[in-house]
Amino acid sequence: MRSLAYSIRKPPTEVADSNDDTDFGTRLGRLCDLLGIAGAQLTTVADNGLAIVAAVGPLADNLALLQARVLDGSRPLVLPDTGAEGPCAARFYVGLTLPAAAGCPPLLLSLYDSKPRPSQMAERIAGLAQELVTDATVEQLRQVIEAQAKVIAESVRAEELRRELFERASATAKIGVWQCDLADNSLQWTNGVYDLFEIERGTQVTRELSLSCYTEASRRQMEAARAHAIATCTDFALTVEIITARGNHRWMRLTGAVESRNGVATRIFGMKQDVTEEKLMADRTRYLAEFDVMTGLANRSQFQAHLSALDATGGNGPGALLLIDLDGFKQVNDTYGHVLGDECLKEAALRLTASCSSAQLVARIGGDEFAVLLGPDTSAGAAEALAEGIVAMIGHPFVRGGHTFRLGASVGVAHYRGGSSQDLFRQADTALYAAKDAGRNTSRTYRAEAR
Ligand code: GH3
Ligand code: MG
Repeated sequence: MRSLAYSIRKPPTEVADSNDDTDFGTRLGRLCDLLGIAGAQLTTVADNGLAIVAAVGPLADNLALLQARVLDGSRPLVLPDTGAEGPCAARFYVGLTLPAAAGCPPLLLSLYDSKPRPSQMAERIAGLAQELVTDATVEQLRQVIEAQAKVIAESVRAEELRRELFERASATAKIGVWQCDLADNSLQWTNGVYDLFEIERGTQVTRELSLSCYTEASRRQMEAARAHAIATCTDFALTVEIITARGNHRWMRLTGAVESRNGVATRIFGMKQDVTEEKLMADRTRYLAEFDVMTGLANRSQFQAHLSALDATGGNGPGALLLIDLDGFKQVNDTYGHVLGDECLKEAALRLTASCSSAQLVARIGGDEFAVLLGPDTSAGAAEALAEGIVAMIGHPFVRGGHTFRLGASVGVAHYRGGSSQDLFRQADTALYAAKDAGRNTSRTYRAEAR
């Protein structure tokens, strides 16, 4: 005898359900009233068991056994007295397989009662039931089952579409969803996170594996944010750097929300997004805003910001400002062209950086004009010695494009003695002009009497 398992399309109820929305519960109820029996069940038959379409009356505990007997035989099963014991057993049972209809799975109608029936009455009930369950009923039933199957197929398709949409949107936005069960630290990732870490989709991930991809600084930063979020049951968000399983450096925006029960954190979940391009773009934009692309030195606006900070700090300014301008540089361009002119500017920048390793800032503030801000600890003598050193350093000959160049530089020095940033700049500029006036390739220091 085959064993049967139920899948419930319509849960059987203890009492007849006259509001059954498929209408078959109502029909079954009427059938039971007409035949004077307590319970009926209509099921579809599939390889993996029976699915209940409609049921009325108390569920009999030997029903599955009786239904299996019907399916094992080829004729209706009529049992006036099943002989079963117990308050929930069906003593009377009639089982009919209904005429098959196109597109409709085999159907089984069970009629039963807790009290046995005389044999003649049992046969009469089976005959009546067969007459009442007409072809029209089967056709109607087929339509109901088809409609149910359509609804299920549509909801499966809708779910597939939702998942597909989510995966596509995640891939486009380079986003994945993650969650961590705090009871055992088990992790779950969507495909987007696997792709971000360049780990094969579906791999069993552990927290250790995930953490091994973080750079040391980012790992510490993330652990601190995570621990704080767990302790306070709050959210967190930060941008971290990871090295993927394939060795690629990536920047990742990480957000996490903590779920708690009775004030105790139980789960963290959130999103991980690849923001490498945005981060590099932002870094580049910041670089362009603050640095001179050709020489790599700070640009005029960064220099200006440093110098203006002097006004805000109320006198706690630099030790000195040096302004440097190359001598006769127009001539270099005119003689050798702009490309070699640029090479000379780069060489001058390198030498300045090398000479001023202890400076607060070395900047290119114009075509052939540079500025050096020295810290407050720099003595006046050291600043002036540095200016002389710069002149000497720039003057060393070098070879570019087969030509030997010997640049010259004039340097103006202004010691900071209080006053505004503009004052300091003007003083250094005055000193620079003095150096130019003195014949170039030399330095001069601003002194009040030098005006
Ligand atoms: P002085 O001795 O008085 O400083 O005269 P100079 O010839 O050096 O002329 P000045 O400092 O007044 O002008 C700077 C020149 O630098 C002007 C221009 O030809 C050149 N220059 C400015 N920017 C660039 C640049 O980016 N590349 C190159 N190759 N030359 C530049
Ligand atoms: Mg010049």
